[in-house]
Amino acid sequence: MHVPLVVLGGGPGGYAAAFLAADLGIPVAIIEQDERLGGTCLLRGCIPSKALLHVGRVLAEAREMEEWGIHFEKPALKLDQLRARKDKVIATLTGGLATLARRRNVQLIRGVARFTNSTTLEVAPAEPGGASQTVTFDHCILASGSRPARIPAFDIGSPRVMDSTGALELKEIPESLLVVGGGYIGLEMGTVYAELGSDVSVVELTDTLLPGADRDLVKPLQQRLEKLFDTIHLRTKVMKLEDVGKAVRVHFEGPEGPSSREFCRVLVAVGRRPNSDGLGLENTKVVVGPKGFVEVDGQQRTADPHILAIGDVCGEPMLAHRASHQGKVAVEALHGEAALFAPRAIPAVVFTDPEIAWAGLTEGDVAAQGRTVEISRYPWAASGRAHALGRTDGLTKILVDPETDTVLGVGIVGPGAGELIAEGVLAIEMGCSARDLMEAIHPHPTLGETVAFSAENYFGLATEIYRPRTEAK
Ligand code: FAD
Ligand code: NAD
Repeated sequence: MHVPLVVLGGGPGGYAAAFLAADLGIPVAIIEQDERLGGTCLLRGCIPSKALLHVGRVLAEAREMEEWGIHFEKPALKLDQLRARKDKVIATLTGGLATLARRRNVQLIRGVARFTNSTTLEVAPAEPGGASQTVTFDHCILASGSRPARIPAFDIGSPRVMDSTGALELKEIPESLLVVGGGYIGLEMGTVYAELGSDVSVVELTDTLLPGADRDLVKPLQQRLEKLFDTIHLRTKVMKLEDVGKAVRVHFEGPEGPSSREFCRVLVAVGRRPNSDGLGLENTKVVVGPKGFVEVDGQQRTADPHILAIGDVCGEPMLAHRASHQGKVAVEALHGEAALFAPRAIPAVVFTDPEIAWAGLTEGDVAAQGRTVEISRYPWAASGRAHALGRTDGLTKILVDPETDTVLGVGIVGPGAGELIAEGVLAIEMGCSARDLMEAIHPHPTLGETVAFSAENYFGLATEIYRPRTEAK
């Protein structure tokens, strides 16, 4: 079979690319090993985790009502129903993707693909009994995604040791759960299990949770998690796991020396690895870097003129919106447009409670680049809306170029930060100045106002914050 454009992988990168190609009149097929479209994000990542985090947030809000004089009885958990409701969200969305593919005449080829040369893929059956087929193409967009990183010493063959996919299956709510890795997945899934009733502990190798995020954003989250979780061990390494029947015995090495403790389950969330191996890329001219990421240029082209690559397989940050955006750039490039993947801001959101979101430069970037910026922080304690919601623990900050007043970065921590960051992305992409943010009328009373107020504060002119006149610009 020959198809002008083949997309290898049906995740948010792959299906966005294939659908745009079809819209532009390019005959296209998606090869996917899973029986459903959606990839990691929809089937075992973003969407199921956010559905469960929504449940966790509702449980937390019900508890918070106590101080407003509203008492709810302890909630009863029907785990089968919760699991089924989560699975329904996935089924609805993946069914929608299948319909959209059909309507656009995107051909779906089920199987495990492998390059035999720069223009040929062998597709092995995804299930026993199926037939192999050969697919040739003019161009292929590789969108094979990533998988959980594994630590060989933790592969003890115990069903009590799980990765994010296992954790999202929600087989049980264990009495105690150890999360190895204080990153995105560890803190999001730790929050879910803690809200559903597990005693959650987190062990993180470095000296902070979410090492890539700004400290002032992490602080309010860490303070809340210290109450929600049983223990947070920083600068601590898990040396060994032992299945002891009804539990896993975990041996730690931390600042206070060695220790060990039993947990009903262990979630390992120590990062993800690109799916660039086992694809036969050695039979093409594609170059794979030392960390396993496929190397691409600004148009997502690899060193092989027939092959482009997008999403998790070609670098970090491994985020769904980056994958989809790159998918569109790749297709536009093939369509002859002057497309380029050169964003000023790829937003990042950690959907914990509070949420943490940032876009553009972080303080870490500024330090690494030796750049001078001015940082203006607006504490939510000065926001009427935050008081009305009982959530004054938030913070909105902007990083501004002091020469031009251009907004270079925005960081937010607080409930809904993931929604609020969109304004920061637009501001950075549009090259807005702090004055633009300040002078755009924001609705009152909203948390969105804190973005404008942080710009007011940059000029020393925030209504709800007093700064002596000498400090005002
Ligand atoms: P993937 O979604 O991984 O899709 C790759 C597809 O390729 C898969 O369907 C796979 O089956 C298929 N494939 C691979 N090899 C072959 C082969 N040889 N033959 C046929 N098919 C193949 N990102 C966010 O932006 N927001 C979030 O909230 C978020 N939450 C997450 C939560 C969890 C628990 C996890 C694990 C990830 C989360 N992510 C989130 C990351 C996000 O899921 C990924 O960045 C995104 O899915 C990457 O898209 P992709 O298209 O590059 O690859
Ligand atoms: P991560 O990189 O976010 O965090 C992994 C953490 O594990 C780091 O803090 C690291 O220091 C720590 N670590 C590494 N080895 C360790 C060890 N041996 N012991 C203890 N700690 C160790 O990775 P993740 O949480 O697995 O998530 C993978 C990726 O998936 C993320 O980087 C992100 O790109 C994506 N993701 C995004 C979202 C979102 O957008 N909300 C949610 C989940 C996942």
